Amino acid sequence: MTKQEMTINISQVHQEMQNALSKRTDSESVKLIAVSKTFGVDMIEKAYEIGIRDFGENKVQELEEKYNYFSNKAEDIRWHLIGHLQTNKVKKVIGKVYLIHSLDSIKLAEEIDKQSQKAKCITNLLIQVNISSEDTKFGINPSDCIEFIKACSGFKNISLKGLMGIASNTKDTCVIREDFRKLKQIYEECKTLSTSNIDFQYISMGMSNDFETAIEEGSNMIRVGSKIFGKRNYNLI
Ligand SMILES: *Cc1c(COP(=O)(O)O)cnc(C)c1O
Repeated sequence: MTKQEMTINISQVHQEMQNALSKRTDSESVKLIAVSKTFGVDMIEKAYEIGIRDFGENKVQELEEKYNYFSNKAEDIRWHLIGHLQTNKVKKVIGKVYLIHSLDSIKLAEEIDKQSQKAKCITNLLIQVNISSEDTKFGINPSDCIEFIKACSGFKNISLKGLMGIASNTKDTCVIREDFRKLKQIYEECKTLSTSNIDFQYISMGMSNDFETAIEEGSNMIRVGSKIFGKRNYNLI
């Protein structure tokens, strides 16, 4: 893909974001995360030149490699880990990621807290909530969110910045819209909690195929891959 083609893709995404936002009554803005998983550093470089600073990766090793490649070329890149994180890999990402979107267990929160304490930093996290009607995806149950946040309140080196969700894998927009509505409702409920490490700002929902619906339903952070970079050879979620 040429830089010119990517420029067109990105402006189209921005246009569609604007369209969706215009259907809302609040004046919040939406953050675009370019999901660069499986794509090479040349593609990230092009997106960076076009002005993108937030990149999403779903594999720890791939994130590390890209982080190292850009660490003294494009220091203002913000890396987002959007895929499942195993506790034994936590150490590798602490201090490198701007935001982890996939907190899905107390065990993981505990390890992130421990490693962040060692590294003398605070790690920003989104709780991944399982909003889809399928049972194959990661994430905690919607009804467990409040308890989960309370159970995390003792961890001093994490900051809970919000929620992330992936809608059902269907073409039925009604089903997708309901999934997003559910997440928005939980988000608003959780936001009222005042535990020590809660600082809700982000509701990360919407991908290439459904971000317009997500924005209409209140998303303020979308994760877009193929609509920017083109089709991936394989689909890793
Ligand atoms: C791959 C991925 C995306 C981006 O998917 P596209 O359909 O290419 O936009 C978003 N979120 C997560 C969690 C992903 O794994």
